[in-house]
Amino acid sequence: MSEHILEIDASQFDHLVGKAPLAVVDFYSDECPPCEALAPKYEALASVYGEDVKFVKIFRQKNRELAESLGVKGSPSVLFFRDGQRVGETLSGGIRRSSLQNQLDTLVGPEKAQALRAMETSRETRCDVLVVGAGPAGLTAALYAAQAKASVIVVDGALAGGAMGSTHQIANYPGFAKPVPGWQLAENFREQASQAGVQWRLASEITRLDLGDRSAVIDGLETIRAKKIVLAMGTSPRALGVPGEKELLGKGISTCATCDAKYMVDKDVVVIGGGDAALEESQLIAQFARKVTIVHRRDEFRAKPQLVEAAAANPKIEFLMETRPTLFRKNGDEMEVELLSPSGEVQTHRAGGVFLFVGMLPNVDLARDHLEFAPDGTVQVDEWRRTNVPHVFAVGDLVSKPVRQVTMAVADGTVAGIMAARELSEN
Ligand SMILES: Cc1cc2nc3c(=O)[nH]c(=O)nc-3n(C[C@H](O)[C@H](O)[C@H](O)COP(=O)(O)OP(=O)(O)OC[C@H]3O[C@@H](n4cnc5c(N)ncnc54)[C@H](O)[C@@H]3O)c2cc1C
Repeated sequence: MSEHILEIDASQFDHLVGKAPLAVVDFYSDECPPCEALAPKYEALASVYGEDVKFVKIFRQKNRELAESLGVKGSPSVLFFRDGQRVGETLSGGIRRSSLQNQLDTLVGPEKAQALRAMETSRETRCDVLVVGAGPAGLTAALYAAQAKASVIVVDGALAGGAMGSTHQIANYPGFAKPVPGWQLAENFREQASQAGVQWRLASEITRLDLGDRSAVIDGLETIRAKKIVLAMGTSPRALGVPGEKELLGKGISTCATCDAKYMVDKDVVVIGGGDAALEESQLIAQFARKVTIVHRRDEFRAKPQLVEAAAANPKIEFLMETRPTLFRKNGDEMEVELLSPSGEVQTHRAGGVFLFVGMLPNVDLARDHLEFAPDGTVQVDEWRRTNVPHVFAVGDLVSKPVRQVTMAVADGTVAGIMAARELSEN
């Protein structure tokens, strides 16, 4: 650990943090992937800001009373202090370097911040395979390449797991007799890849990606040069294009049940969509909500029949078929959704929250200039998941496929990981 970081316990807190002019405290835990993702960033920033700010780490599991007294509920949680008083925002979860650095800049003041930023040195790292995206496709490609003795770095703007990691339960991934929570499956994937030697840059921003010279700049400071690149950035929720949707996203409208279902206790909820995600995630929302109304524009669901049957059997879930939303607006704490029925009538439906599950779009913005695309907007690849750019592969939901499932993502990652390693050994 950096000489600028002090590991302390609760008994030293008042003396060391309470009396420091400026301090930052990281409450961390064991076996905590977001804590592991934060550790190198905390160290790097300690070596820049450590002369001016006291950097402290506290093991949360052994100092619970102190953590609770400071309102710390999860690990990691990073707290900022000026003259013993809490200042700024508490950071938690998958903490990005830029978020931490912005808070440190505020702590030291603009002039000092500018001087310290000027001292930061950039560095260059080389690897055989750079994987962009740590969902099941990227994690599998990384695993296969690393097991074939390639040096592999995986970078993700979030933590490992992708859409799989934020799915409530996965009941169809082979090898698990009972449904497995998405985060657990993600952690198994990550741990297995770590054991194979994969290196991580998680909760990190790719500030530039050049597929031509196969380099990526991470957090504006580290340039990674790779012999092969595997693109595995998955998809993002598609927008409906209905008035009010953009403005109210995150303020009454959500696309993530795992994140927001818990806020729906005893509320009426509207779910828009008719595919697997809409039907599956409605079950999770119904665990909290009083009632869930699934609104679907067609007269039949696209979802798997067993998901439709399960939703129909849930007394808290209702269906409104051949109906589409035409407007979202807020009325106090409530959402109002204008719904157009098959008869052409528009009715206002009140809800505590609205969830949209209306399809996904490939995340290709980072690499748009270089790649060829299929008509559906996915990245064009051959049977080995090679793109038109030499040495660059694309896998998972980024690539056209009849169904988007973890098993399909894993299959793509397998093919690309094996081929990337094979090409490396041939050169
Ligand atoms: C709500 C929901 C429920 C689902 N339920 C199931 C299920 O029960 N069973 C099943 O088999 N499948 C399910 N799926 C589908 C499954 O999760 C996906 O098919 C699978 O996760 C795709 O894997 P992927 O690796 O291609 O992409 P993703 O899992 O989407 O991972 C992409 C990763 O890339 C990262 N990324 C994106 N852009 C960048 C960038 N610019 N820089 C760095 N990183 C970036 C993202 O942060 C993410 O971690 C579900 C999907 C959803 C949305």
